[in-house]
Amino acid sequence: MNQQTYRSPVVAILGHVDHGKTTLLDYLRQSRLTAKEYGGITQKIGAYEINTEFKGYKNNKITFIDTPGHEAFAKLRSRGANVADIALLLVDAKDSLMPQTIESIFHIKSANIPFLVVINKIDLPQADPERVKNDLLKHEVIVEDKGGKIPVVNISAKTGKGVNELLESILLIAEDLNLEYKVNNPPQAIIIETKKDKRGIVVSAIVKDGCLRVQDTVYIGNQKIKIRSLINDLGQIVKVVFPSTPCEILGCSELPEVGSIISSSLPTNLPPVIAKSSLPTALPQLDLNRLLQTQNEEKKLNLILKCDTQGSLEAIDSVLKKITNLNLILKAVGGIYRSDIFLAKNTQAIVVGFNVSVDNEVKELAKQEKVIVKTYHIIYELLEELQEVTLLLQEKEKQEKNLKGEAKILAVFTIEGEKVFGVKITKGKINLADNLEAYRNNNLIGKTKLVSLKIRAKTVNEVKKDQEAGMIFSPPLDIRIGDVVKSIL
Ligand code: GDP
Repeated sequence: MNQQTYRSPVVAILGHVDHGKTTLLDYLRQSRLTAKEYGGITQKIGAYEINTEFKGYKNNKITFIDTPGHEAFAKLRSRGANVADIALLLVDAKDSLMPQTIESIFHIKSANIPFLVVINKIDLPQADPERVKNDLLKHEVIVEDKGGKIPVVNISAKTGKGVNELLESILLIAEDLNLEYKVNNPPQAIIIETKKDKRGIVVSAIVKDGCLRVQDTVYIGNQKIKIRSLINDLGQIVKVVFPSTPCEILGCSELPEVGSIISSSLPTNLPPVIAKSSLPTALPQLDLNRLLQTQNEEKKLNLILKCDTQGSLEAIDSVLKKITNLNLILKAVGGIYRSDIFLAKNTQAIVVGFNVSVDNEVKELAKQEKVIVKTYHIIYELLEELQEVTLLLQEKEKQEKNLKGEAKILAVFTIEGEKVFGVKITKGKINLADNLEAYRNNNLIGKTKLVSLKIRAKTVNEVKKDQEAGMIFSPPLDIRIGDVVKSIL
């Protein structure tokens, strides 16, 4: 029987440095850990699970990711999966919003997960939670008592005041999320930390569905591993790990990336094809196709903008607002950091800096993650190049509007001296006698006509998205496997 049950929420804490993230994590670890019940000592394995003891919830445990901050958060998301189900935006009640608080807001919003505002250090005489709530309004974070939907809790991570209320608010959000899993589903886990010690390569992971068992064979990217040993956050060797419980896994022969997904089968999604498009030379490796795959199907260039001063940020932002097809994922004062690269990767954005430097470590990361980073010292140049790219996007959008259908060539046969192409329709529909354009890597290779259209040896007049068919083109051109044919209206 594939029993369905509810897992505990996985929570990440974000906020400005020194606002109290680590203090809160330490407080929770010391006061709430299940380890106490077992008399055990907790191990630092990247996350830990606490027992809230609240009654009446589908699951009353909570898993906290141990490395706080937006860089860690973005890195965990950089291979495409959200480990965290809920985020806490922690703000110092005395200092209110600081640059990394604002960056954290962008990171949380781009992850599209629910979050709650935690106002910390209310034990201090200078604490001013009202100011924090008002400052948040400027960044479109409207908390509950300001008429919005975002829950807000005042706490002191030092004394523990308000922490109970915070935990209950997390459970309430988790109830709405319905975090179901099925024990017998194929396992899905996400790597949250990696290290090498005397045991060899050790990866820490959180299971999100199914469960992991010792001796299971699983894949991490292309690496096939047999799980040699599983250790929980209390340092105990276990045979099976259920969702939301952090664990260490032994058995890897290569060090995988943080954020990688552990699954029972080889990942099927192929690496993205790099398009050779006619782009302005200023942005040589820009992959238009990837940039165009935004969630709402709008043809927009996603952009992260970092400037040296608030003045230059506002000046550039006011002009960028007038450029259509541009989507600002993050705009902030400050240098270009690792967290920006991860956010850019997660949102398929490019990173643009004005009068800011990029250190070598960040440049190297950008290269690895294939993120485009451009810096400028002249506002005019920055705007001109962005305008050029967005114009190209508009052009592409116009072309797509006229598209009737598209098919991908999966096979080529020669039957009775004639070339027959096995295709799959990927968009819209295609009819017999349509005029077609053939493309390789987004470059037009020629025009032709559809003179024969068959589904399983039977001639048909029309094929639609997801159907497979046999096609004969006249002229046959030099069409090969992987090419794309388009029917234009
Ligand atoms: P992080 O950089 O966000 O992880 O911040 P830390 O947890 O390291 O906290 C920074 C400083 O703030 C430390 O000196 C903490 O003791 C102090 N701190 C954290 N939470 C509280 C609190 O609730 N009240 C007071 N008074 N100090 C706090």
